[in-house]
Amino acid sequence: MNVNGFPLRCPHCGGDSFKRSRLPMGGPGLSLFGFELMGEDAVVFTCRTCNRIELFGSAHTTEVDLRGKSIDCDRCGTLIPATAGVCPNCGQPK
Ligand SMILES: [Zn+2]
Ligand SMILES: [Zn+2]
Repeated sequence: MNVNGFPLRCPHCGGDSFKRSRLPMGGPGLSLFGFELMGEDAVVFTCRTCNRIELFGSAHTTEVDLRGKSIDCDRCGTLIPATAGVCPNCGQPK
C-alpha cells in the first residue's frame, strides 16, 4: 500500500504487507518517545512478515493491492471489503 503518497515497504525484511492499527494519542498524559501529537491518532503499521513496526503521526493510505478485494478503514484500520459502503467495525463511510 501507499502511505502519504509513498509506497510502504519494510526496511528490515523488504516485505510490503502490513497490518494497520491506530494508536490513540488524544488522552491526557499519552505520549510516545517523549513527544505528544496534538489531537491526531498515530498510525502503526506492523510488518506481517517480520513484525517490524513503522509509526506515522498520521497516515493516508492508498491500497495498491491488485486483488482489490479489501481496503483498510481510514478510521479504525479494519480490513473491509472494497464493495462495502461503510466500515462494519466503526461505521466510517468510505
Ligand atoms: Zn518486515
Ligand atoms: Zn472502521
